[in-house]
Amino acid sequence: MLIGGHVSTAGGLVKAHERGVERGCDAIQVFNQSPRMWRPTTWKPNDVEAFLELMDDGPIKSVVIHAVYLINPGTKDKEMRKKSLASLTHSLRMGDAIGADGVVVHPGSRLKEPLDEALGRVGEMVREALAESDRCPLLLENTAGAGGTLGRTFAELYDVVRRAGGSKRIGICLDSCHMLASGFDIRDDAALAAVIDDCVAEFGLERLACIHVNDSQTPLGSNRDRHAPLGDGELGDKGCSAFLSEPRFEKLPAFFEGPGVEGKEPGAVDIARMRELRKKGLARRKRRAAAKKKARRK
Ligand SMILES: [Zn+2]
Ligand SMILES: [Zn+2]
Repeated sequence: MLIGGHVSTAGGLVKAHERGVERGCDAIQVFNQSPRMWRPTTWKPNDVEAFLELMDDGPIKSVVIHAVYLINPGTKDKEMRKKSLASLTHSLRMGDAIGADGVVVHPGSRLKEPLDEALGRVGEMVREALAESDRCPLLLENTAGAGGTLGRTFAELYDVVRRAGGSKRIGICLDSCHMLASGFDIRDDAALAAVIDDCVAEFGLERLACIHVNDSQTPLGSNRDRHAPLGDGELGDKGCSAFLSEPRFEKLPAFFEGPGVEGKEPGAVDIARMRELRKKGLARRKRRAAAKKKARRK
């Protein structure tokens, strides 16, 4: 597992890389522009070039882009669709340029419209955005389930994959906080394993591309997206360590998005905590497997 955090790109990509290294990350997630504004920003060619060089043999092994929050691929509104598609396409092209392992996007909201039609619109936009870019994967993130948000269940997410044409470039990003908030009990190893069984049955393991490891301020099924520092929320040490040691997540980049213990952005303490929790989870699983083996021998 590549342990990482969301870092600011203030000052450019090289600066973002530096922040990742300072905090002890193996992977970084960045916004490709201000997440609450439509105005697209393009990284300077010399910044991109220097960043690619750093990524060649540096401590950071993976970079993922998070798309703008304003995007709503589920909307019916023409103007909004135009802006959303342009923004999503731009993110994917930036992803192509910097060799990103994916662009994470929230499937959006159906607002008051019927679910089926909204999912169809999301599929259509995903298909168009992929056609307008070359290589970068597009990762649909599960949502906390507030109001009419789309992508609350694996079936809903898979529906989008299918309607978008099933391209290999479509993957999913599972967020632990959103999962708990939308009603998936993932608070220990066994409960999480059962949920991931369902997920893999729906998607196949190869579409699992990225995880967001956030604790949740609000309880199971609350449908509210309020992140907490790792171990300080409803998932606690047990839930976070389970998520960080789930065998099927082993090859993925894992991002803590903040707020951290000391500030809004994940800091070195948060990344250290993440590693600690992962170690704890792995040790627990090892102990349990050994006990099982012993019991079988008797
Ligand atoms: Zn997330
Ligand atoms: Zn969130």
